[in-house]
Amino acid sequence: MNELISPALGISPIFWPTLLLMLIYGIRYTVFTGLMFIICRPQFNIGRAHFVPQASFKTSHHVRREIMYSFLTVLVFGAVNGILYGTGWIHASQLYFQLADHSMIWFYLSIPVMLIIHDTLFYWLHRAMHTRLLFNLMHRVHHQSIYPTAFAAYSFHPTEALAEALIVVIIIYMMPCHPFAILAFQTISTAINAYGHSGREFYPIGTDTHWLGRWINTSTTHAAHHVKGRGNYGLYFLLWDRIMGTFESPRK
Ligand SMILES: [Zn+2]
Ligand SMILES: [Zn+2]
Repeated sequence: MNELISPALGISPIFWPTLLLMLIYGIRYTVFTGLMFIICRPQFNIGRAHFVPQASFKTSHHVRREIMYSFLTVLVFGAVNGILYGTGWIHASQLYFQLADHSMIWFYLSIPVMLIIHDTLFYWLHRAMHTRLLFNLMHRVHHQSIYPTAFAAYSFHPTEALAEALIVVIIIYMMPCHPFAILAFQTISTAINAYGHSGREFYPIGTDTHWLGRWINTSTTHAAHHVKGRGNYGLYFLLWDRIMGTFESPRK
């Protein structure tokens, strides 16, 4: 066994970071989607369940598919990042490990900046994946959940998971970021993703017409994306959907 992971074979430098990252992605996914699924079940009177046929929550086959694909995604996310660290390619990125290398203001600011860049890259990837060819190759699995549960947060075909992992890699090469800031950014991202697929709305009625709320991709607007199969391609925000005219009102 030791020979299998010996440095001479070039496996061990990739093996441990991959395993560690798979654990981080897996635990984070399980905690956030599990908690969101539990509190959003029909028997709990929390938030508004204003669009989900309740029966879909009881379809265990549906939930099992979402969880199975999500754990495949965890493997892909772990592998992509494990390769990056294990091969040393990460040193060509702008990742920095000493907090003193940049100001603390930048450390905190980098988290929302990563969210904004991620939202932008995701919007265009998502639009591309809604072309006929890429939809069949990459995105159909995610849309098998017409009425998703929180577990659909990572429910992607492995080709989509690979593309999703790579757009985060692009961010690390684009801007200086500390591993703790990335940890915070991806934790916020997972929490928002779990909420976005939860079937419940926690924002007040009329958020989509509020001066600030109209820029937020809520659970309601993402549910409209799953039901209609078009529009609202953003991840956290509706900025690009509003600019590019792809906003789909959930009221129609
Ligand atoms: Zn889509
Ligand atoms: Zn979705």
